Amino acid sequence: MVLDNCLVMFTIANGLILKGKNLQPSYENILIDDGIILEINKDVFEGEIIDAEGCVVFPSFLNGHTHIGDSIIKDVGYGLSLDEIVKPPNGIKHISLLESSDKDLVDNMRDSLWEMFNSGTTHFIDYREGGVKGVKLLKSAIKDVPISSIILGRDESFYRDDPDLREVKIAVRKLLKYCDGIAPSGFGEIQSEVADLIVGQCGKFNKMCSIHAAESVFCQEDSLEKYGKSEVERAVECGFDQIVHGTNSVNDDLRLILDSGVNLVLCPRSNAALSVGWPPLDRIVRCGIKPILGTDNVMLNSPFMFRELEFVVKMYSLRYGVCVSSRDLVKMATTNVCYNDVNQRVGKCEIGVGNFSQLVVARQRSRNPYLSIVNRLQTKDIINIINRDNIHKFY
Ligand SMILES: [Zn+2]
Repeated sequence: MVLDNCLVMFTIANGLILKGKNLQPSYENILIDDGIILEINKDVFEGEIIDAEGCVVFPSFLNGHTHIGDSIIKDVGYGLSLDEIVKPPNGIKHISLLESSDKDLVDNMRDSLWEMFNSGTTHFIDYREGGVKGVKLLKSAIKDVPISSIILGRDESFYRDDPDLREVKIAVRKLLKYCDGIAPSGFGEIQSEVADLIVGQCGKFNKMCSIHAAESVFCQEDSLEKYGKSEVERAVECGFDQIVHGTNSVNDDLRLILDSGVNLVLCPRSNAALSVGWPPLDRIVRCGIKPILGTDNVMLNSPFMFRELEFVVKMYSLRYGVCVSSRDLVKMATTNVCYNDVNQRVGKCEIGVGNFSQLVVARQRSRNPYLSIVNRLQTKDIINIINRDNIHKFY
C-alpha cells in the first residue's frame, strides 16, 4: 500500500463510474487536480493515468454512526441486553472505557480507523464518550489517517436525574470548542431541558446535534407513557439535526422525519445484534425518506460498510419477500447525505465536476455494478481510495 499526497494532475480512465447523487452508471474518465474533479469526459486523458479497466468507480462511503471508542472491547458482553451493554453510565461499555489506559484506547481506535479507510470509508460521524478528553483521544488517533471525521461529543453531566443546567451549559460550550457537535445517548438518559439546552447551544454555534431515538420498543413505550410523545416526536420537536435508529417508529414518526428534514441513520446490524428489531426500511424508502447507514458500536460490529450493505440486502429479501433496489442501498452508504442539510457539516461529495474527489476504484465482480458493491466486494478488491488530495494505491 502506498499513500501519496497527490498534488499532481491525474485521470482515472476506462472504468465504469457511478455519477451524481443518483449514481448514474457511465463509461467516462475523471480528471482530478489538487483534490478537485476538473472534468468528466470520455476523451480526457491528462496527467498521470490510473487505469480503471474492469473496475467500478464510486463515491467513497460515509459511515453515518460509529462509536469508535469501544474498539478496545470488541465482542465483550455479546448477547446481553441494550441497557446492560451500552446504557450510560453503568453499561459494560462505559465501565470498560473508564478502566482502559489512554494509550490502549488510542491504539485500538487507530486500528479501527485504518480498517474503515482501507475498506473505502473516507467520512464518518462518531458519537464520542468521555467529554473533552474523549474527543481529544479520538483526534490523536485520527492524526495520521486520511479519513474525514465529524465528532459529536457528550458529557457525564447530561445524565443526572436532577441536572445542574449551568454545569451542562459549561460542558456543552467546552465540548463545542473541540468537536463538531453534541450527541447525548437517548431521551431515556437525559431530562428534556438538557436536550433543549444542547440543541439551542449547537444552533447558536452552528454545530451539529444528534440523538438516538426509537432504538427499542421499551424506549418508545417509556417515552409515550411519560410524555405522551414518541422519542422521534420529541427529537423532531426539539430540533435535533440527525436521529439514529428510528427502528421502532410508531404513529406518524416517519411522516415527521420526512417533513422535518431531520437526517435518519439506520444501523440494522447493530439492531440485530442487540435484538431490538428491524428498521421499517420498506416504509422508509416508500415514503421518500433518504436514510444513511451506520455501523454503530465497534464492540458489536466491525465498521465495514460492505458488511452492512450485504446484511441489509439479504435481510430485506427475507423480511419482505422482494428485493430492495441495490442502487438505493449503495446511495444510503454514499450520496443520500448529499440531499440533507447535515451535509454542510459532513462535506460528502458525489462524483461531479467541481466537487472534491472522494472516490473508490474497485474491481467490478459482477455485471450489476451496485450488486457488485453490495454483494461481492471485499477490501482486497479495492485498487484506489481517494479523499481529496490523498490517494491510496493498493498493489
Ligand atoms: Zn449508537
